[in-house]
Amino acid sequence: MRIERTINSPEETRQLAAEFSEFLQPGETVAFYGDLGAGKTFFVKALCQVLETDHEATSPTFTIINQYQTAENIPVFHCDFYRLQSMGEVANLGLDEYFYSEAICLVEWADKIEPLLPEEYWRIDIKFVEGAPEKRTIIIQKIGDANDE
Ligand code: ADP
Ligand code: MG
Repeated sequence: MRIERTINSPEETRQLAAEFSEFLQPGETVAFYGDLGAGKTFFVKALCQVLETDHEATSPTFTIINQYQTAENIPVFHCDFYRLQSMGEVANLGLDEYFYSEAICLVEWADKIEPLLPEEYWRIDIKFVEGAPEKRTIIIQKIGDANDE
């Protein structure tokens, strides 16, 4: 599955996040790619609103991983690897325990730990559109799903 959408406003990003939430299953990982300020945290916040998490999603830049819980008691892990210098720094975090669990994992700056991502995950690219501050191109695709390629 692959969705490519031209987005004109933050509200449209919010709508796409709501649409995407219908596909997202417990245990799945979502890897976000995009430059600083593209809207990765914005998308995560919107998703968490739809999932009715117990806390509003905030950028976990300093803590690396935040944990929330959906209205249906599914754990949500929200990671941000922006400040990561090397993958060695996360060696002792035991990321597999998060990725291979019943939790939903939302990963910002996934490119920094790409080799550590699970075999199957959602990839969401958020790209700026030049000259239009609220426009984005958002591409959502499933990576590594043998039934889907
Ligand atoms: P990132 O996590 O990718 O570094 P943030 O989500 O923290 O970026 O910030 C994105 C910023 O861009 C927010 O201030 C948001 O209001 C703004 N913005 C403008 N247009 C959009 C859009 N279409 N979608 C998402 N965010 C947008
Ligand atoms: Mg962010």
